[in-house]
Amino acid sequence: MSRIAFIGLGNMGGPMAANLAKAGHAVRVFDLVPAAVQAAVDAGATAASSALDTLTDAEIVISMLPASRHVEGVYLGDDGLLADIPGGALVIDCSTIAPATARKVAEAAAARGLQMLDAPVSGGTAGAQAGTLTFIVGGEADALERARPLLQAMGKNIFHVGASGAGQVAKLCNNMALGVIMAVTGEAIALGVAHGLDPKVLSQMMAVSTGRSWATEVCNPWPGVLENAPASRGYSGGFGSDLMLKDMGLAVEAAMSVGASIPLGELARNLYSMNHQAGRGKLDFSSVVQLITHDN
Ligand code: NAD
Repeated sequence: MSRIAFIGLGNMGGPMAANLAKAGHAVRVFDLVPAAVQAAVDAGATAASSALDTLTDAEIVISMLPASRHVEGVYLGDDGLLADIPGGALVIDCSTIAPATARKVAEAAAARGLQMLDAPVSGGTAGAQAGTLTFIVGGEADALERARPLLQAMGKNIFHVGASGAGQVAKLCNNMALGVIMAVTGEAIALGVAHGLDPKVLSQMMAVSTGRSWATEVCNPWPGVLENAPASRGYSGGFGSDLMLKDMGLAVEAAMSVGASIPLGELARNLYSMNHQAGRGKLDFSSVVQLITHDN
């Protein structure tokens, strides 16, 4: 049993904290949204009154926050948590943020003698709830071994991809591919439908052919094709289009920092930006198909 401080209880962090509590760990939680804290308490966690208050006796500190600025805000600066984290505690940030920010916070942690991992996840809200997430980890191998039992309580696959920041780089590579594939899958189905094809039959064919992907099989962007996909419930739930826009922007920044060429990634970033401007930023990112279908 570990004493865990958990900060950020949104669509992902909430069920992750719940799975840690279910596994028998003592989890002290905080979120700016009181209802999110209450949901975690209902799942077996203990409420803290602030991020600082989560740290009491903490052996492990886990954060699951929206973006780089939130992670910097929570850990760094005059009010940052790093100054108050108990000596010897391990810090694990599971948010998807800029690799440069992950390295900066990890260096500040190291300056205090604390080990820190970047451990962004893949698997969506369903994976967070089911405890089947993939963890993509950057940092020192011995820190990962300390974290492993906890990550196993929240996930199924754990990849150590390199030093600090490498987890974020790998996560951005995955999400850039996903963002492009989702957009082109919607485009392909729209083309078939414009020719009078049934989107369900077309998708079923693609799902066992070479155009196969998570977008055809699990999160199909066409309404009515897959009953459980966000597209079939008005694009609610799932992975927000604005979060995908953030990740595509991080991929562009990461590419620029090393002079890499990502022509499709840059194009797709603009599609998610247009989807935001069309008012669909809070919907699932598969709603990007509506740029093509002009459904609203
Ligand atoms: P979310 O917006 O649902 O949750 C973020 C939570 O952080 C919110 O509840 C918010 O109140 C809280 N928060 C923000 N600032 C805080 C602070 N200073 N102190 C305490 N709490 C604070 O986002 P999410 O969907 O849970 O995603 C979290 C991260 O995981 C993001 O980086 C996202 O890109 C990544 N991610 C999301 C998914 C997904 O399917 N939703 C999948 C993989 C990765």
